[in-house]
Amino acid sequence: MPTYILGTRSLKELNGVHSDLVRVVKRAIQITPIDFAVADGIRTIEEQRAFVASGASHTMDSRHLTGHAVDLCAFIGNKGRWEMDLLCKLAEAMRTAAIECNVPLRWGGNWDVLLTNTDAPTEDVVHDYIQKRISAGRKPFVDAPHFELPRAQYP
Ligand SMILES: [Zn+2]
Repeated sequence: MPTYILGTRSLKELNGVHSDLVRVVKRAIQITPIDFAVADGIRTIEEQRAFVASGASHTMDSRHLTGHAVDLCAFIGNKGRWEMDLLCKLAEAMRTAAIECNVPLRWGGNWDVLLTNTDAPTEDVVHDYIQKRISAGRKPFVDAPHFELPRAQYP
């Protein structure tokens, strides 16, 4: 299995992000089966406003504003890639890394459970979330590139 390292831009995006989440990302890049980049880390209020306006985010109470969240994308052939199957593989690496680092982790593929509290395959984790939301008559909001430190443990 090839080993990857974080590029300069990824490291720059990690500036200002909580050190526990940085540790998880730095461990994840060592064990991931596919290369990834940190697409976004901390955001300003203005950036978040633009994300909400575009529909990319649903809240002005984003964990990105406080340095408690990162967005990852797969990186293949020098291109950022956002397909769900690739993001699920990244989520597997992030979960393993978080458990090793003893850091609880919430994933935008399923907002209802902590990723580190389930050992189901990440494809199933996101599928369960979508099914539950649809059953409840609510629209699922899947944000699979997104990983955050949970508020309960990191207010
Ligand atoms: Zn995000």
